[in-house]
Amino acid sequence: MKSVCAYTKIRWMWVLCVLSVIPVIANADQQLKPIKEVKPPKGAIVLFNGKNTDAWEQLNTKGPCQWLISDGDLKVNVGTGNIITKRLFKDYHLHLEFMEPYMPNQTSQARGNSGVYNLGQYEIQVLDSYNNPTYKCGSCGSIYGFKEPDKNMSRPPLQWQSYDIFFHAPRLDDSGKVVKYPTVTVIWNGVKVHDNVEITCGPTTASMGGPILAEGPIMLQDHGCPVTYRNIWIVELKK
Ligand code: MG
Repeated sequence: MKSVCAYTKIRWMWVLCVLSVIPVIANADQQLKPIKEVKPPKGAIVLFNGKNTDAWEQLNTKGPCQWLISDGDLKVNVGTGNIITKRLFKDYHLHLEFMEPYMPNQTSQARGNSGVYNLGQYEIQVLDSYNNPTYKCGSCGSIYGFKEPDKNMSRPPLQWQSYDIFFHAPRLDDSGKVVKYPTVTVIWNGVKVHDNVEITCGPTTASMGGPILAEGPIMLQDHGCPVTYRNIWIVELKK
């Protein structure tokens, strides 16, 4: 009889334990604090501050940027193509914030796809990877096709997220041959997901093409999804 009571007690303790965990899981999303909008530091080059797209042009036409400014944010104007900065960069800290659209009827690569291409050639993937499995090295935060982020820091769609990308361009010899690979560190929503990774694969898929560059633009991808960006600035790093 004593052992039956003990068994009942343990069973109830187990039930109470499970019940206490359920609200924590259910409220996990609500516990995410909004990211802080980080103001451009002194010396930063502002690439988008909500007012105009003067720093950008269309990749294909080299004409004025056709993406949309809506409520001070920059939204992919689907079908107009990728945009690039007019200015070229080499070694830098790029900060930007992005928000995934709500696309419940799409899956995998069709849900919230865009991308940030360093020098126009090396993509840090932008995708809705919140409960949206996809193939290896294709998820949000991936160095596309090369390395997954160390952790999936995705927030649900319609919430702002941030990338801080520390990029060092490849070094080339006089013939254009790579003598030092580009490297990248990525902080995603405040968490380091790539730590000084050498990108040894060359330009990633759907880059702007051409020879390997020693300096190049920042390119944002139109991949058919109305992803929104804001607060884009860059600090050039000294050697
Ligand atoms: Mg992409």
